[in-house]
Amino acid sequence: MNEQLELFDVTIIGGGPGGLYTTFYSGMRDLKTKLIEAQDQLGGRMLSYPEKIIWDVGGVTPIRCEKLTEQLIQQAKTFDPTIILGQQITEYERQADGTLILTAASGERHHTRTVIMAIGYGIKKLAKLEIEGADRYEVTNLYYTVQELEKFRGKRVLISGGGDSAVDWANELESIAASVTVVHRRDSFGGHERNVSKMKQSSVNVMTPYQVLGLHSSNGESIEQVTIAHVDTAEESMKLEVDAVIVNHGMKSDFGPIRDWGIDMGVWNANVGERMATNIPGIFGAGDFVSYGSKVGLIAGTFTDGVLALNSAKLYMDPEAPEMAYVSSHNERFKEKNRELGVLEEE
Ligand SMILES: Cc1cc2nc3c(=O)[nH]c(=O)nc-3n(C[C@H](O)[C@H](O)[C@H](O)COP(=O)(O)OP(=O)(O)OC[C@H]3O[C@@H](n4cnc5c(N)ncnc54)[C@H](O)[C@@H]3O)c2cc1C
Repeated sequence: MNEQLELFDVTIIGGGPGGLYTTFYSGMRDLKTKLIEAQDQLGGRMLSYPEKIIWDVGGVTPIRCEKLTEQLIQQAKTFDPTIILGQQITEYERQADGTLILTAASGERHHTRTVIMAIGYGIKKLAKLEIEGADRYEVTNLYYTVQELEKFRGKRVLISGGGDSAVDWANELESIAASVTVVHRRDSFGGHERNVSKMKQSSVNVMTPYQVLGLHSSNGESIEQVTIAHVDTAEESMKLEVDAVIVNHGMKSDFGPIRDWGIDMGVWNANVGERMATNIPGIFGAGDFVSYGSKVGLIAGTFTDGVLALNSAKLYMDPEAPEMAYVSSHNERFKEKNRELGVLEEE
């Protein structure tokens, strides 16, 4: 079965800035490279702030995050790596010859000599309402996003949460719904101050610091009442009549089964030495996923980690190899590419 799988030198898990730059550098070192990303898009956490301007990447003047992401993706593709999207790696298995098979949650398998984990803080998922059985209402009147405002026309809507989206939805629904109640566990709200003031001055019923404790239904199909309670004094609980519940509890990060691989790690990071090696032979780490004495938690820091991890992977496969790649300005790998760019170089 394994024989049918193509063997790669390096498989990089995670397509954020760390994984993308490592993919490029792996090409510079002439390694057969695969990049696997769980989402359907490359970019990692940078996808969560596309409009922000980034100032702190060396040599790059202020740039919109989505533009930098686009450039990182383009750079990662320089040496035509294999890029797989939409696969969350969950398992690894060592073969008799020391190589590794990685398996995705969806069942696909990948054969590799080494692995570089550039998985940040894991997979981002919508934080769900933590009430047993709540998922059964997701097909009727429990929502985690608002796609169509009209759906809520004339309804009594309860919004749980206090992030940017909760505030925006409350303001948008105020003139459409029969009533809007926002229940939030803190007194402060996310989002623009102007939007928060607008919500507070409108007919939206703002309940803080309150939380949703129970969902009630007489037919077992849709929510008819919601129990909310004061965060500090649960006695002040009350039942509200509703037609729809919208939840905006943000995103939650999770490593999934990778936590059981036996990697020496804390809550959010793997402990690595200065060569980015984890405690598992052949598995290295880079970017936000790793922790070491002088770790720099910036995009620029992920690049250095990636270079170190990749050089370590190369040495792991070939202990005689040079410790790092020859600089790009004098590297043979770029001769042809420079010619393609129309750059004439002295021989
Ligand atoms: C709002 C915000 C603003 C920021 N601004 C700046 C800034 O101005 N300058 C700066 O330098 N830094 C900034 N940062 C920090 C920077 O974005 C991070 O340091 C950087 O994204 C970390 O990159 P990474 O590649 O290590 O991880 P990530 O970007 O988190 O990427 C990890 C990737 O791995 C994937 N993944 C996880 N688990 C698996 C799995 N099991 N299988 C397959 N794929 C998996 C994830 O889906 C994700 O795409 C900001 C961060 C935030 C949140």
